[in-house]
Amino acid sequence: MSDLHTRVEETGNILARIARDFSPAVFASSLAAEDMVLTDLILKAGLPIGIFSLETGRLHKETLEVLDKVKAHYGYEIELYRPQPEAVEAYVAQNGLNAFYDRVEMRKECCRIRKVEPLGRALAGKRAWVTGQRRAQSSTRAELAVQEDDTAHGMAKFNPLADWSEQDVWQYIRDNNVPFNSLHERGYPSIGCEPCTRAIQPGEDVRAGRWWWENPESKECGLHLVDGKLIRIKSVAA
Ligand code: SF4
Repeated sequence: MSDLHTRVEETGNILARIARDFSPAVFASSLAAEDMVLTDLILKAGLPIGIFSLETGRLHKETLEVLDKVKAHYGYEIELYRPQPEAVEAYVAQNGLNAFYDRVEMRKECCRIRKVEPLGRALAGKRAWVTGQRRAQSSTRAELAVQEDDTAHGMAKFNPLADWSEQDVWQYIRDNNVPFNSLHERGYPSIGCEPCTRAIQPGEDVRAGRWWWENPESKECGLHLVDGKLIRIKSVAA
């Protein structure tokens, strides 16, 4: 049995366990390649794990097109959570549309309004959430566990692809004809909001194109932050 075949089987088992033991559970998809692998596994197995995405209002059109691709391919509509319009308006009126380039604090506040607060609404009332994060993606994710105790949201958090390589992800996508974001073919291995993501050069870290003007240590979107501080999420043995 190939390594990838084993990984796929193990990941399917983890997802089935989440659906069985942690209902209601949801999958937070950023519509990137890893998220498409999980989308494919969840929908093909018919698992009762709802899939949602954070529509920040600053996504690339290619990212939004993934929503249509998923609908056409699986007949499934990904649920969208958007920021509170009044919070966005107040931030823009006070700081300008692109104040996140000025200071890390301004960037984190924009992420808080457009991602963290909507995420809180998406997770309300759930027992677990699932992400497509992988250990190899960056220094900030080097210690990522498959199962964590997310004390900030008061629920379990699962990263079923934690030990997948980038090659595994693309092999799975090719083998299973999974739809994906066309930006991945244009030098964007990691995709976030349009003004905060750039293409990278061969050999650069896969997340080098995210918030490229900041130090690597501060490069998380805040989905794992509370009050501006990194949440220490506890690993749980699988
Ligand atoms: S990634 Fe950029 S545009 Fe998107 S929410 Fe964060 S700071 Fe704002």
